[in-house]
Amino acid sequence: MVPKPDLKLQGLAEVNGQPLLCAECGSGYSLEIFKRGFREVWPAFVTCLSCGKGDDHPVITNGLVDAALAARTGRRKAEDRDTFAAEWRGVTLTGELQPGFVLDDAVVVVKVLKEQVTKDAKAWGRSKKQAATAHVKEKTDAVTAAAKGKAKDVTDAAKDRAGEAVSTAKAAAISTAWTLQTGGAGPTTTVKPKRRRCTVKGCRGGKVTISTRLHAATGKTSEVKIPCGVCHRSST
Ligand SMILES: [Zn+2]
Ligand SMILES: [Zn+2]
Repeated sequence: MVPKPDLKLQGLAEVNGQPLLCAECGSGYSLEIFKRGFREVWPAFVTCLSCGKGDDHPVITNGLVDAALAARTGRRKAEDRDTFAAEWRGVTLTGELQPGFVLDDAVVVVKVLKEQVTKDAKAWGRSKKQAATAHVKEKTDAVTAAAKGKAKDVTDAAKDRAGEAVSTAKAAAISTAWTLQTGGAGPTTTVKPKRRRCTVKGCRGGKVTISTRLHAATGKTSEVKIPCGVCHRSST
């Protein structure tokens, strides 16, 4: 089993005001910090996902990791960032943690996906529209499932496989929400909800065309447009 890092850093962190970098390759953008051993003063282990190397850190201790965990802000809304500024025995550590999944991520993602398709669909043909709708449904289902998985808090080992799928969906939700917040290709304006097609037979744009004699001034059968009783009010 792969141990879970205590701190999964997002972007550059700083130790004593200096950027925390991998001792091997010098990258500071994909570091994970693990507590090691049970004494607070023992060094924590820093691994680099970029080069795969890792080592005990000369300055960061288990105690400092605990302080960072205690100080982290956490996230509640999709726009929140999980940051920390910790100090332990004279050593400071500041940075940001990779966002953990919160329910609001799912809400944001589902909303954005729907808006995106509504916007794009205007320029698309029917088959592409249908494909896009199916695609969104797939994604929103996954995100909704992730949200439910979170609510149930899957811990049972027997649910491992399901848990895996859930974490994949969660990761997708987070990264999508994240991309959108950090200047990704999300829509900036709210898209009007798509008008639902009226189910009344013969209704076009809130008007129903009927053949009638009663309403015609001439007394002969003619076509008259009348406001649709079902959708007219909402469409004007
Ligand atoms: Zn490295
Ligand atoms: Zn109608």
